[in-house]
Amino acid sequence: VLNAMEEPSDNRQKKVVAVVGGGLVGALNACFFAKRGLDVEVFESREDIRQAKVVKGRSINLALSHRGRQALKHVGMEEKIVSQGIPMHARMIHSLNGKQSPIPYGKKSQVNRLPATYKLTNHSETYPNAKLNFDHKLQDWSAEKGLMTFVRSDGTKEHIQADLIVGCDGAFSAIRKQFLRRSRFNYSQTYIPHGYMELTMPPINGEFAMKPNYLHIWPRNTFMMIALPNLDKTFTCTLFMPFDEFEKITTGDQVIEFFQKCFPDSIPLIGADALREDYFRLPAQAMVSVKCSPYHIGDKCVLMGDAAHAVVPFYGQGMNAGFEDCIVFDEIMEQFNEDLAAVLAEYSRVRVPDDHAIADLAMYNYVEMRAHVNSKWFLFRKHVDNI
Ligand code: FAD
Repeated sequence: VLNAMEEPSDNRQKKVVAVVGGGLVGALNACFFAKRGLDVEVFESREDIRQAKVVKGRSINLALSHRGRQALKHVGMEEKIVSQGIPMHARMIHSLNGKQSPIPYGKKSQVNRLPATYKLTNHSETYPNAKLNFDHKLQDWSAEKGLMTFVRSDGTKEHIQADLIVGCDGAFSAIRKQFLRRSRFNYSQTYIPHGYMELTMPPINGEFAMKPNYLHIWPRNTFMMIALPNLDKTFTCTLFMPFDEFEKITTGDQVIEFFQKCFPDSIPLIGADALREDYFRLPAQAMVSVKCSPYHIGDKCVLMGDAAHAVVPFYGQGMNAGFEDCIVFDEIMEQFNEDLAAVLAEYSRVRVPDDHAIADLAMYNYVEMRAHVNSKWFLFRKHVDNI
């Protein structure tokens, strides 16, 4: 990677890749590019999460499925990440009267966002041709020149040039902003009326408060709560509810009243006092679905992960689809002998329909998980599926 003040040399042989965003998908992508022997640099706006004391992030535990595991396997990281997670073999439906009914599904594993990102970041650093730059926030970039401007927390700026810019900078991607100015770029974003809030269910006598190898769901039609197990024997409960419902609850007593009415079996497990406090700790977070196409500009830039396709979390496939982006791109690199113009066009051609399908399935599951999962039709269908 060259400083913009220097003239880029014309006879450079080895391609230089800049991955913007060092989250889950950026960190994995760095491993893929490095494994291919390209010079890769990651530019992440935050400080190094491996050293940061407080990490403000979204959901800490995520469901890893076959799609994501395949991509991890390719860079030798599947077992290292899965071994730090908890297998989940089924959903456990909690009805209002406290009855629990399991509904089996495919092999899934809970993984924790932070250790997974640490491990991928560590792994990328084992390649001599990979370099990580933290505290580098992309401010602006030019698709024509492949030139990026990063700003650091002390206000200094750095100008960096690369052959290929890979936008892995999440749902509110700064890379994607340049795409929006171009003709024939399709873009849509939809905020759903629901927000989400995370609550912790502590262990009881050092053991999980509920059966651990399940994704626990309390479907209540217009809203729902889910709980995923963590290695420290806690569960992270996520309450999904329309924002106006969240806002109606303004006191600790109202929280208890609401849980009494909707999730009574969870109160002794989370603890009434903790509930009263935790509900007000952070405001409910918004959820956005982003669809766009194409994913590339010429032979210079490509979007992957949430930057290309942020999806609502109800299908548990956002990270998995982002991981799959990396392996699909790698296969196309192989197929087209790293001819970037051909690779990027082919990547958009094959990947856009699949990622849009994931976004649609996630939106469909937004209703299925909170409503259909309750219905006799759903239970019947699952029964038929399992035969
Ligand atoms: P991000 O994780 O958002 O990372 C982007 C990175 O880019 C960040 O590190 C950010 O600091 C950096 N960045 C941003 N702007 C800049 C800039 N200007 N310059 C430099 N760096 C920048 N997915 C699943 O597969 N399974 C699940 O069970 C699941 N559950 C979820 C539950 C919830 C409540 C939510 C909200 C999401 C869930 N997801 C799940 C989706 C998953 O979290 C995302 O798909 C995944 O984190 C996307 O990874 P990413 O690397 O593309 O983006």
